[in-house]
Amino acid sequence: MVGLKGSFQSMRSLNRSLILHIIRQNGPISRAEIARQTRLSPPAVGNIVSGLLDSSLICESKQGVSSGGRKPVMLMINSRQFFIIGLDIGSFQLKAVISDLNGSIFKKITRRIPQNIEKEQLILFIKDSVHDLKEASDLTDEAIMGIGIGMHGVVDWENGISLFAPNLGLRDIPLKEELELEFQMPVRVENDVSAQAMGELWFGNGSGLDTFVCINVGRGVGAGVIVDRKLHRGSSFISGEIGHMAIDLKGPKCTCGSHGCLQSFTSGPSLAEAVKRKIILGNQSSLSEEFSGNLSAIDGEAICRAAENGDVLSRSALRQAGRYLGIGITNLIHTINPSRIIIGGGVANAGGLLLNAMKESIRQRALTNHAKETEIELSQLGGDATVLGAVSLILDEMFAVQDG
Ligand SMILES: [Zn+2]
Repeated sequence: MVGLKGSFQSMRSLNRSLILHIIRQNGPISRAEIARQTRLSPPAVGNIVSGLLDSSLICESKQGVSSGGRKPVMLMINSRQFFIIGLDIGSFQLKAVISDLNGSIFKKITRRIPQNIEKEQLILFIKDSVHDLKEASDLTDEAIMGIGIGMHGVVDWENGISLFAPNLGLRDIPLKEELELEFQMPVRVENDVSAQAMGELWFGNGSGLDTFVCINVGRGVGAGVIVDRKLHRGSSFISGEIGHMAIDLKGPKCTCGSHGCLQSFTSGPSLAEAVKRKIILGNQSSLSEEFSGNLSAIDGEAICRAAENGDVLSRSALRQAGRYLGIGITNLIHTINPSRIIIGGGVANAGGLLLNAMKESIRQRALTNHAKETEIELSQLGGDATVLGAVSLILDEMFAVQDG
């Protein structure tokens, strides 16, 4: 395994991590204020701060406000000194970015993954994309701290292997091993929704929360679970596969072979399937005219658009999906008891109709008033949620609090 680079390795003592976190969260901040917040002695803070300044991870900024005497020098994260590569490997496309330590993306490429791609070709495709991104950025290898990957499907995060990527039809892709060999920098791999949850913790609506769940509703339905500010991964890599939570034993057949899974009522493709069936059965909808002769082209996006324009069938389909989603989320609330649920993915763009039906369903079913009022928010990271999550996998390691 490729570890973090020299100056970062030696920096990972408890007090240094603590100070680094305070500077990240509260900077620009003075040495005196750090000493006050950490209860470390001013000389101890001074020593650690000098080490951090030497490593270039922090820098001194313009002077702060003085309470009378000499103005204190303020410290902040030197966000433009070190960079991270983040990859989002989805069903059809690969997105690769270079971000600074504050999660600001300054280079991005998006490529369509060729259909029926084989495992070896996919690995080459990913390597090529990272090479192109690096070349376009003009950064030296020393400035790049690592590569984080959010991969759809089931991921063995310990060994960085994509165990099953259902939408590519591939198994056992050794992403970490291949990319560490190629680029000689640490590579960390997580399931895409787990990565997304880490992104929310570092840069989004999960910032400052201890326990929350991030749910992605798109082609499938998945959850990333954060407990005590850490990713909950489970014992064999399938924690968060809520799309296959049974909601209705007599429900439609799911892609996994079971009946009535949550995603067979709420994912974009299932929503489209349900609407098409109703149109074929003779229900009125503006979509039957728009897609006349080509009903199979109806997708989640078209349904959201039609609903916005008042199409009764689309509106009722979205409300129905919202109700089912609410049932699934209530089950999650009763299992994990998060303080907030963050919704992302395509269906999150469906707007108030789906969201209100979902909230209503939760209010009807949750056991206590507190549980009924669990905060539900839409992700603000939008389409970059996974790729920022991938970036945060490396950040999380750089800033990890470890004694040593
Ligand atoms: Zn299923």
